Amino acid sequence: MKYRVAILPGDGIGPEVMDEALKVLDVVERKTGVSFERIFGHIGGEAYDKFGTPFPDETKKICENSDAILLGSVGGKEWDDLPPHLKPEIGGLLGLRKFLKLHTNLRPVKVYRALIGISPLSDRVLKDEVDLVTVRELSLGIYFGEPKKLEDDVGLDTMVYDAETVRRIAKLAFEIARRRRKKVTSVDKANVLYSSMLWRKVVENVSKEYPDVFLEHLYVDNAAMQLILNPSRFDVILTTNMFGDILSDESAVLAGSLGMLPSASFGERVNLYEPAGGSAPDIAGKNLANPIAQILSLSMMLRYSFHMDEIADKVDETVEMTLEQGYRTKDISEDGRFISTSEMGDRICENLSKIL
Ligand code: NAD
Repeated sequence: MKYRVAILPGDGIGPEVMDEALKVLDVVERKTGVSFERIFGHIGGEAYDKFGTPFPDETKKICENSDAILLGSVGGKEWDDLPPHLKPEIGGLLGLRKFLKLHTNLRPVKVYRALIGISPLSDRVLKDEVDLVTVRELSLGIYFGEPKKLEDDVGLDTMVYDAETVRRIAKLAFEIARRRRKKVTSVDKANVLYSSMLWRKVVENVSKEYPDVFLEHLYVDNAAMQLILNPSRFDVILTTNMFGDILSDESAVLAGSLGMLPSASFGERVNLYEPAGGSAPDIAGKNLANPIAQILSLSMMLRYSFHMDEIADKVDETVEMTLEQGYRTKDISEDGRFISTSEMGDRICENLSKIL
């Protein structure tokens, strides 16, 4: 078996954390016999410096011809004054997302037992395990609905959903829940928004195809409170573009560091896997970044693009094991002692080699 993976390290800490994820991929390759052809591409500020554009045609071609894309991060002060279409985040990252026609974003958040101390929530709230994933619709909703306009004294956005779009993401959320703890919490505002009334009706219909998965509905204001009061009640949170944008950021703080948070986005053909955080220019080039978000993004790629669930479980387990052994990068250290980006990668690889 051979897969083609586009590797886009990007800017800032991107290349450093990508190196560690690729070491993990080496171990997976060695232990499973599955081979991953890595095709490196340029994106973001470094691509602009080389080609005069943050998303060169050559990168588009690489992405198009790959089975999955593993991205680092883009952006940095040196490119902040460029016109929007040349900025790493707009021309580069948003350009890539648009090119891939991404429709769904997955953001898992886990509060590891070993890291409870760095979560802003108290031990009382975190006494039960917090392990949830937000499944956010990306293609419609208030960000893309028409008409949309800004005049001198009126700003207008339109929140729209159609049944087919809701059905697609609802099915995906139920499929994901089946591989987890079998609970979907659908978040909407069906007490006032018509688009949410449709959302709720379609989600209810889809749920009939998944009798083994428990479905509950929450209004978004209540969901925002529950995430802080009782986060362990959630397994899969299924929601719209704007609500997902807000709730996934809120849930992200539970883990205590952006360096722990992976993400996956599903497109029409090729999926994109990247850390939830940015290029962290404050620590770039210092071997200080936490590579776990990138390594967990790789694990999501193995799970969702290559259906290697057992191997992905082992990678996730290894991350937890390494934290339990007391290894910390600076962002997750509670006592000032920490190891470097590359040492964390090495420790994880050593543990993975033992259990695979
Ligand atoms: P950021 O996510 O880069 O950093 C915020 C804070 O989190 C910083 O203190 C940083 O050191 C820390 N952090 C993030 N990832 C970390 C990791 N893996 N290990 C340890 N600490 C980590 O956000 P920002 O500072 O607002 O943005 C910096 C640049 O990144 C900007 O140019 C921004 O536009 C860009 N950005 C890119 C993406 C992306 O590529 N997906 C996302 C967000 C921001």
